[in-house]
Amino acid sequence: MGDDHAGHDHVWADDLTKNQGLVLGTLAHSDGPLSAYDILDKLREDGLRAPLQVYRALDKLMERGLAHRLESLNAFVACADANCHRRGLIAFAICEDCGKVDEFADPLIDERLGVWAGARGFAVARTTMEIRGKCANCAAA
Ligand SMILES: [Zn+2]
Ligand SMILES: [Zn+2]
Repeated sequence: MGDDHAGHDHVWADDLTKNQGLVLGTLAHSDGPLSAYDILDKLREDGLRAPLQVYRALDKLMERGLAHRLESLNAFVACADANCHRRGLIAFAICEDCGKVDEFADPLIDERLGVWAGARGFAVARTTMEIRGKCANCAAA
C-alpha cells in the first residue's frame, strides 16, 4: 500500500486489503467514533462509493479486534491498543459532551462476568460495556 493513508507505522497495517486499510486509517485518525456513513464520506475521494464496501471492511476489522462497534452510538472506533485483540470484556467510557471515547479493559469485571456466565452455562462470544457520562476535562469545565 503506497498511498498516503498507509503512512502511519502501526504493525496492523501490513496485511489488510486496501479498503480495510483506508477504513482503519480513517478511524485511527478520528477524534471520536464515526458512523459507517461518516467513514464513507471521508473516503469518497479514495474511491469508495458504497456503504457495503465500508461495512465489509468494518466486519473484517472487528473480527480481528482492530476496530470496535459502539452499540449505543451505532458508530465505530479503531482499537486503542494495537496489541489487545482481546476476547472477553472491552469497555468504553463515552463522554456525552465532547464525544471522546476511552477504551479500557478490567480483568476484575471480566472475571466476575466469567463466574456469572459459568454458573449459568452461558457461552460468551463477546462483552462490550459502555459507560456514558463526562470525561475528566468536561466534568471539570
Ligand atoms: Zn480494543
Ligand atoms: Zn468530554
